[in-house]
Amino acid sequence: MQVFKLIETMGHQQVSFCHDQKSGLKAIIAIHNTNLGPAMGGTRLFPYGSEEDALKDVLRLSQAMTYKAACANISAGGGKGVIIADPEHKTQELFEAYGCFVETFKGRFITGEDLNISFENVHQMSEKTGYLVGLQERYGGPGRATAIGISCGMQAAREFYLGQKNLSGLKVAVQGVGKVGSNLCQILSEQGIELFVSDPITERVQKAHRLYQAHIVDIDEIYDLDVDIFAPCALGGIINSETIPRLRTAIVAGSANNQLENEDIHSRMLAEQQIIYCPDYVINAGGLINVYDEMMEIDENMSLTRVRNIAKTLREVFQIAEDNNITTLEASKRLAEQRFLKGRDDR
Ligand code: NAD
Repeated sequence: MQVFKLIETMGHQQVSFCHDQKSGLKAIIAIHNTNLGPAMGGTRLFPYGSEEDALKDVLRLSQAMTYKAACANISAGGGKGVIIADPEHKTQELFEAYGCFVETFKGRFITGEDLNISFENVHQMSEKTGYLVGLQERYGGPGRATAIGISCGMQAAREFYLGQKNLSGLKVAVQGVGKVGSNLCQILSEQGIELFVSDPITERVQKAHRLYQAHIVDIDEIYDLDVDIFAPCALGGIINSETIPRLRTAIVAGSANNQLENEDIHSRMLAEQQIIYCPDYVINAGGLINVYDEMMEIDENMSLTRVRNIAKTLREVFQIAEDNNITTLEASKRLAEQRFLKGRDDR
């Protein structure tokens, strides 16, 4: 693997590796771009099959954070951390060692929760560093803010393409009812939407059924449902050549990061099938806005308005796509690049 070639191609500014003998920590932090401010991005813990997989993941995720922060109009850049470890073997020492690693960036990298990293783990890191977000879970926490942003984005897509703002009476399939998915179900059910949910954790789908009368569907069946909106709120890579031909929905709008298995191929496939794709890093920015606003001590009402403005950004994206006859993903990249390249010129 040509590490430097890959880093150069993707435009990263810094990639650092850390090995701590005592705790067994093996971690990588990638800073993609800091034109608009310090690099922000969660830390993910995962038992990667190889070091190459871990490096590719951190490079891809940190790049996406630059685009997400730029589209969310916040003064931050993109970064990400990964810890190569088994989620069953998390220790205080591991997170303290990781905290020391984060501290070495002196604020150029600010991190928080992501896959397999809990609120408690972030507190364990805080023994050694202050460059953290999400320690307070203010304003309902990032999961709630992300769900609010998704529901506003769904409205924007319906309004722009179908001339209908009201979501009442629609059918929405939610894949994954964890922190974001369960909040989304609550918000959508209050708007009179019929819900279909899937999740391997039985108690979670049962709870959605009990609270919001959601129909429970099998894990694989969710792709075949005849629904108005499909909301992927679990894993990345689930929009691919196998699932796209099965989709019977007008809109894909969900929280999962990196929903498209291959960005170019699958954004085009969706467009050809006349399915409107709300780019993931635009529509799921509510969590980032929430933790950024917590850090900047921005008040709750203002923070909520900023999350709801995701709808405005999406309308801009849809307009760029329509005016230039390009996919919504290409349009969102153009918008983000305009912002973070301008940030470099301003500085
Ligand atoms: P979570 O871990 O709380 O929930 C994910 C849920 O998906 C779990 O209940 C899990 O059992 C379920 N799941 C796993 N595999 C599945 C499958 N094959 N089919 C259906 N369900 C499956 O995570 P979350 O915080 O709700 O985040 C969901 C997604 O949104 C992730 O991709 C995350 O990276 C992304 N995201 C989260 C936030 C946030 O603030 N929490 C912000 C932006 C993006």
